[in-house]
Amino acid sequence: MIGIIFGPPGSGKGTQAKRLEEELRIHHLSTGAILRGEVARRTALGEEVGRVMATGDLVPDALIVDVVKARLPEAEEGAGALLDGFPRTVTQARALDAMLADEGHTITFVVALEVPEQALIGRLLHRAELEGRTDDTREVISERMREYHKLTEAVLEHYRNQGVPITVVDGTGTPDDVFARIHAALTGISSE
Ligand code: ADP
Repeated sequence: MIGIIFGPPGSGKGTQAKRLEEELRIHHLSTGAILRGEVARRTALGEEVGRVMATGDLVPDALIVDVVKARLPEAEEGAGALLDGFPRTVTQARALDAMLADEGHTITFVVALEVPEQALIGRLLHRAELEGRTDDTREVISERMREYHKLTEAVLEHYRNQGVPITVVDGTGTPDDVFARIHAALTGISSE
C-alpha cells in the first residue's frame, strides 16, 4: 500500500499521517520532518536547504527526489508507506511514478485535506506560538501558500488524470473529526 496525504500548509497532514500510521501500520515518510532533522543536525544537506525552507520556498526537486529515493524502499516494507509533503510538484510526482513503476508498485490512495485559507493561516500562526517553527511567520506563511497554489495543487490534477483514487476530505474541526472522516472514506476505498 502506498498512500499520499495531500493538502496545503497547516491542513493537518502531519497530525493525520501519525494516526494513519498507527491505524494502518504503514510507515509515515514526512519530507518536511526529514529536512528539519537535517537542518537541526547541521548536515551538508541541512546547510543546503535551511535557508530555502526559512523563506517558505520549496527545495529543489532533484534534491528532494534523491532524499525520497534513498528512503522509499525501506518505508515500503511491511504494510507500506504513507507519503506526507511529497510529491509537491508535478516533476516530483513524475519522479515518484518512475520509482514505483520500477518496483511494479502503484499509488493506492490519495487523501486530500481541504481547509479554507483563513483557517490555515490561523492554525499556522497558532503553531508558531507553540512550536516556534521558523517557517511559521506571517510573511513566510504567505510564501508557502503561494508555492502551494503555484506548484503543488497541480499534483492532484496529475493523479486525477491518471485515475488514482483521490479522496477529498473536509479538514476542518478537531483532529478526531478529521480522522473519522478519513477513516470512513478509506474504508470505502478498500471495500470497493
Ligand atoms: P507544511 O507544514 O508547509 O506542509 P512541511 O513540513 O511538509 O510543511 O515542509 C516544510 C518545508 O520543507 C517546505 O516549506 C519546503 O521548504 C520543504 N519541503 C518539504 N517537502 C518538500 C518537497 N517535497 N519539495 C520541496 N520542498 C519541500
